[in-house]
Amino acid sequence: MTSLIDQYGRVVRDLRISITPRCNFRCGYCDPLGMGHKDPLGTVSVRDVANVVEAAVGLGLTSVRFTGGEPLLRKELPEMITDAKRLGVEDIAITTNATLLKRRLPELLDAGLDRVNISLDAVSPEVFRRATGGGNFKQVWEGIATLLELGLHPVKLNAVVMRGVNDHEISKLAALTETLPLHVRFIEYMHLNNADAEGYHRSFMAGKETRAAVEAAYGTLECVPTDPSAPARLFKVPGWKGAVGFINPISEPFCGACSRLRPTSDAKLRPCLLNDREFDLRPALQHAEPVTAVQEMFLVAAHRKVASGITTPVERPRTMVAIGG
Ligand code: SAM
Repeated sequence: MTSLIDQYGRVVRDLRISITPRCNFRCGYCDPLGMGHKDPLGTVSVRDVANVVEAAVGLGLTSVRFTGGEPLLRKELPEMITDAKRLGVEDIAITTNATLLKRRLPELLDAGLDRVNISLDAVSPEVFRRATGGGNFKQVWEGIATLLELGLHPVKLNAVVMRGVNDHEISKLAALTETLPLHVRFIEYMHLNNADAEGYHRSFMAGKETRAAVEAAYGTLECVPTDPSAPARLFKVPGWKGAVGFINPISEPFCGACSRLRPTSDAKLRPCLLNDREFDLRPALQHAEPVTAVQEMFLVAAHRKVASGITTPVERPRTMVAIGG
């Protein structure tokens, strides 16, 4: 079977496709300047996405995650999922803020969606509203409840922890796992928003400290065995139904296990989240044989994947909303 292997021996298996830079939230860690307003000219089409996915499948990639911006703002998402299933992708996921999930889930599941990850930075409605720049907690929770009702386990929730913004919500977020089969995963804040360095360091909270906050509230966590190549380390409060996870890209980088390539919504191929090198896919997508041409770009990009990304604050040409998380 064909595999795409980079120069450090890492097998590329996962495609994280951003399908729009637009977002209906304004989270400070992602889109502080409110850049995610509209799809600019040049946003990838359904056909572009199908060509990229077909190229990936031909090189042995087995999983695709659609993200953004907010992927549910793209009305064509079900078509993209249907295409990915038809082309042989084994695992199709989305990352979403869930505001539109309750309404759109039936068409997404009909299309072949396998899994959903949801961003949830707080459970107190006012903290949630402030952290997301206007988000409505009740609406998001309805999306999560719909997933739970449908039994799409495990439902994974992601919280980016920022001191002074939502650190006082850590124990409340962890408490959701007492009775619900959720994975609540705490993510270290990465400098992907062009925040000033001092402000970034003030807001950054290491996973170790987040874990200590959970243990101070509920006692020593027990380890849940997980795939060592997965970014989250999972734990449980003994006897609780769900699990809490810690994703520590800054204090415990996991670049050695990176299996991803990231096509952006403006048709650039980004080998590393934390490195700004990108390759233009547009000429390949306009080629008479787009799938073969995109595969050639994948080989180039995989070869140029850096050993590890830049985790210190640096000015980046794109903020997270336009990269895709
Ligand atoms: N709009 C969707 C959502 O809210 O899930 C998908 C896009 S969002 C960029 C995807 C993920 O990136 C979210 O789970 C968010 O937690 C994470 N993220 C964004 N900026 C980040 C940052 N600066 N540091 C760590 N995680 C970040």
